[in-house]
Amino acid sequence: MELHEKCGVVGVKADGKDVYPDLYHGLYTLQHRGQESAGIAVENGGISVVKGMGLVSEALKNQYLQGDAGIGHVRYSNTGCSSIQNSQPLLIKHSCGSFALAHNGNLVNYHELLSMLEGKGNIFTTTSDTEVIAQLIARENIRCQDFTQAIANAMKYLVGSYSLVILHKKEIYAVRDPNGIRPLAIGKTPDGYIVASESCVFGVLGYEFVRDVKPGEIVCINDGLHSMQALPSEPKHCMFEYVYFARPDSLLDGHKVYTVRRNLGINLGKTSAPKDADMVIAVPDSGINHAIGYAEGSGIRYGEGLIKNRYVGRTFIFPQQDLRERGVRLKLNAIKSQVAGKKIVMVDDSIVRGTTTRKLVKVLRDAGAKEVHARVACPPIRSPCYYGIDMQNAGEFIANGKTVEEIAKEIGADTLEYSSIESLVDAIGIPKENLCMACLTGEYPVKEKQAKLTDL
Ligand code: SF4
Repeated sequence: MELHEKCGVVGVKADGKDVYPDLYHGLYTLQHRGQESAGIAVENGGISVVKGMGLVSEALKNQYLQGDAGIGHVRYSNTGCSSIQNSQPLLIKHSCGSFALAHNGNLVNYHELLSMLEGKGNIFTTTSDTEVIAQLIARENIRCQDFTQAIANAMKYLVGSYSLVILHKKEIYAVRDPNGIRPLAIGKTPDGYIVASESCVFGVLGYEFVRDVKPGEIVCINDGLHSMQALPSEPKHCMFEYVYFARPDSLLDGHKVYTVRRNLGINLGKTSAPKDADMVIAVPDSGINHAIGYAEGSGIRYGEGLIKNRYVGRTFIFPQQDLRERGVRLKLNAIKSQVAGKKIVMVDDSIVRGTTTRKLVKVLRDAGAKEVHARVACPPIRSPCYYGIDMQNAGEFIANGKTVEEIAKEIGADTLEYSSIESLVDAIGIPKENLCMACLTGEYPVKEKQAKLTDL
């Protein structure tokens, strides 16, 4: 399945040591969360920002900033178009000073806040919801002079998902919305601290995991960690981070992503193994952990049946139908010798639009597979996501208004089975009431409890 996460953030504070290399490599590690632009802001007697379009290696080519506190961001556009103006970190200068801010998530009340602030005379230079957050913090900072309190005051107006890193003077702030929808974790070395969207960054850079930022918490990092619980914690962690988005070597809110995926596969394998199947294969890469679990749960051997070309980026869409069909084969092709004459179970993490799944079933049949049984770790996705994932148009979702049998027919599989919601909750290991599963159930967890906009 191919979807886009909406951004990854990192912040590093290390007394007397340049933080740029750790920020750069941290963004490299978070590249899966955003490939459209990348940027870094560093404090060194003032805040300097470098950013560019494309992957980290392109966007930050031949750049370096000196300084011992900084933040970074990789972006996939959500609110606002893909442009250098909308890339982050955003630098905000106001009468009480300046700060840089990077955001992962999506504000549900962006347009409402934007028109309120514009009505009060604020001028916006981007079309991104991140600038609304930044301008609210600046506004509150002018009012109360205390930066932590300014963030806490601004949070009362925000509805939606936000994991933020903020660079102010030589301090790094890590902020998470009261539902903790997007992840954010803290690590440390003897030299200092790091905050990042995912803990896989810590292992790569040699930091020890400390803890997750709590939902509704503001953590200020200077000579140590200072915490303020700005809003009551009401966890509603995104289930999709576990199923698809986060890296398998990350630990999110105390739960190992790899283990969740393997358990999800085991549960599905125990209940949905087709009779006499010869081999379980994964849709690489995101289906691999689930498929390994499926083989374990079903007792059917695991093998490789599809090969991914790792060097294909976005392909040009040719108008001719036959050339369009070639697109999926450029990315994923069958190993004929592995699948020919066999009854195959193809395991994927999730199906959203179903276009790729349908093509993969055909690729396997063309390669001689006798039967193709599709198994999907994530229950059917039927409702849009408003909290920062690229799934907004429910009309495009293959599961919308269809039975499992109808979907199987549409993708051309012999049989199709999904995990149940109960099995998903069991595999993640977090109580159902503390998870966001709105794209599965249509029950949206974010409540409009923000301060009255007229108070702005
Ligand atoms: S709606 Fe789905 S993808 Fe969006 S935050 Fe909730 S669980 Fe995650």
